[in-house]
Amino acid sequence: MTTILETQDLGYYYGDGTVALENVNVKLEEGRKVALVGPNGAGKSTLMLMFNGILQPKAGSVLFRGQPLNYDASSLRSIRRAVGMVFQNSDDQLFAPTVYQDVAFGPANLGYSAEKVKRYVTYALAYVGLSGYERRPPHHLSGGEKKRVAIAGILAMEPEVMILDEPTSNLDPATSEEIMEMLEELNLGGKTLIISTHDVDLAYRWADEVILMKDGGVLRRGSGPEVFGDSELIKEARLKLPIVVDLYQELAGRGLVDGPKPPRNILELCDTLEQGCKGRAPSSSTAEPIEPGKIYICNVDELEAPQIIAILEKIQPSCKGAMGTSAKVMAEGAGIALDFTYGVIDKCILKALIGKSSLIMTSGGMVDHAQNRIRDYCRESGAVIEAVRLSDGAN
Ligand code: ADP
Repeated sequence: MTTILETQDLGYYYGDGTVALENVNVKLEEGRKVALVGPNGAGKSTLMLMFNGILQPKAGSVLFRGQPLNYDASSLRSIRRAVGMVFQNSDDQLFAPTVYQDVAFGPANLGYSAEKVKRYVTYALAYVGLSGYERRPPHHLSGGEKKRVAIAGILAMEPEVMILDEPTSNLDPATSEEIMEMLEELNLGGKTLIISTHDVDLAYRWADEVILMKDGGVLRRGSGPEVFGDSELIKEARLKLPIVVDLYQELAGRGLVDGPKPPRNILELCDTLEQGCKGRAPSSSTAEPIEPGKIYICNVDELEAPQIIAILEKIQPSCKGAMGTSAKVMAEGAGIALDFTYGVIDKCILKALIGKSSLIMTSGGMVDHAQNRIRDYCRESGAVIEAVRLSDGAN
């Protein structure tokens, strides 16, 4: 794996003498989803501001692709293009009178022609699901829409790394999940993502790597189960356990489940529990095994809305979900009522396990991602769930 960002003995104190970071040594690998977690004042925001040169170290250094950052104007321009930052409060980021002008600000500053700027803005707004919003004033938008505009403004600069400070703060749960799913999609497209969050459930299920911070230093780093599986450590950091871990530990305490690491998500928790129950079921149990439902996957890049509607009439799935912006836009335009708009793959697997069929509408690299996730789940759990890729008229 290639290290994309690194800190060496990094230290920072603010003008009033407050020490915000001390001796921070972290290496972030390219293409990962990283969550910085920790209580207020742990130093998460300060560290993020140092990753793209907004703050300059008072001790140690920050390296991008192995090279220490320089802080002259031209070096800063290039690092801020490569490492884009989305602030916690969108109102701190959005300042232009229209959405178009806001998103165009970055590419225009890079000296692109008006035609090229337009292309980048159109692409970025379509990616975040805000085509048609170009003339709207950002301050009239909802919190979720403002966050999308802020993300589009960074995307339009084609960054390699995107840093998002508390990306879901002040958003309702469904909007938060949709933003996180959009970040998942960006990551599947190859972007390295770094978020900070207090939301331990979100960090646990979303991040490949969790960096737990406290008092300006790193307490622990590792996968979600490695970091959050240590309840003493989590208490020390004044955080709470993710609900899946908390429930797992309660069940383990009663001897109902066991295993070296807590499950990653509800799906794995249900499987662990089911295994435990099977071990205990009386041998005379006569319950019929459930025939798993099928999961249909359709690529909205390859099918028109009327074709999808025709397919839906034919297969009559028990539930329907959409992953990614273009699938959601297509479902809305076609009047297809969605049961799931986030966590779609796992929810469809859970439905399949109780015998219900489902349809996942998605696009691009997410199609393979969905199919791989179902295949990996089946391989690990021993379940047999058929994932059927749909094309026009077939199936
Ligand atoms: P977090 O993002 O984890 O809440 P911060 O990086 O914001 O942590 O803060 C780390 C420490 O630096 C805290 O003690 C905080 O009070 C202090 N701090 C943050 N910003 C400033 C500032 N502008 N001036 C003085 N102290 C600050």
